[in-house]
Amino acid sequence: MTSTGLHHVTAISGPAQRNLDFYTRVLGLRLVKKTVNFDDPGTYHLYYGDEAGQPGTVLTFFPWDGAVPGRVGVGETQQTAFRVPRSSIGYWTQRLVAANVAHEAPQPRFGNTVLAFKDPDGLSLALIGIDGIESEAGWSAGEIPARHAIRGLHGVTLLLKDAGPTAAILQDVFGFTEVAREGNLIRLAASGDASHGRFVDLWAVGNFMRGHQGGGSVHHIAFRASNDAAQEAMARKLRDTHRLPTTEQKDRNYFRSVYFREPGGVLFEIATDDPGFAYDEPVASLGQALKLPPFLERDRARIEAVLPHLA
Ligand code: ZN
Repeated sequence: MTSTGLHHVTAISGPAQRNLDFYTRVLGLRLVKKTVNFDDPGTYHLYYGDEAGQPGTVLTFFPWDGAVPGRVGVGETQQTAFRVPRSSIGYWTQRLVAANVAHEAPQPRFGNTVLAFKDPDGLSLALIGIDGIESEAGWSAGEIPARHAIRGLHGVTLLLKDAGPTAAILQDVFGFTEVAREGNLIRLAASGDASHGRFVDLWAVGNFMRGHQGGGSVHHIAFRASNDAAQEAMARKLRDTHRLPTTEQKDRNYFRSVYFREPGGVLFEIATDDPGFAYDEPVASLGQALKLPPFLERDRARIEAVLPHLA
């Protein structure tokens, strides 16, 4: 079985506690890993997902206390969307109202019901109401009934000057196919049977202003590779057919990654499915302890001293 589609989405946020409260309490995701930014160990890297943090359910953040707000523009991810049962859209609308979360009225997109809203840093999110997913397992920490829970990522919308060059990479390297068009929006879907993280929508806007990254911006999106061999095959195709070199492979402890900037300007990552988040702690207690990779363990005391306390 081939793993395809999105592995995770990573964004930039303001204070870590506010981010944690929003994603675990308001949206009811599970904190599946509390670690640090391996490239900047004085800051957290927080991972939210389903119970086990399966690929295709995960949204991660680099929280910075003093993050300057970003601005969405061409060459960036414009929206990150999660899946919920369509019958739960009313529940979620009421929940966002009760939590004072700025949101739009539900509206149709590609036959689904879209409830768009923003997180406390202005990150553009949506819940996509889908028929027929009620029986999929949902993570519940208690407050949100499991039947209404988020069922992983739906996909992302990329804001681009032209859709063509980005679509070519998605189709040729990651095995996506175009499945629908609506106005300036082109929907591509991953092949295979993964239900999570299947869609990338390309929104071509021509010469619109470029974005700049900051708080509330998506930093990169990661696509799945089953293992190192699949990742290497994708990297080779990028290099040989599309003249797009990737970085060397980086060990992210829970997956191994290479990165490249796709022709539309968005930073893409290819992340392996293995070993996953249960690599260094049991599924039952994911996210409770601060986990560090071996090369940072010797600095644990210093790292813990500079990280803000999370409750
Ligand atoms: Zn990543």
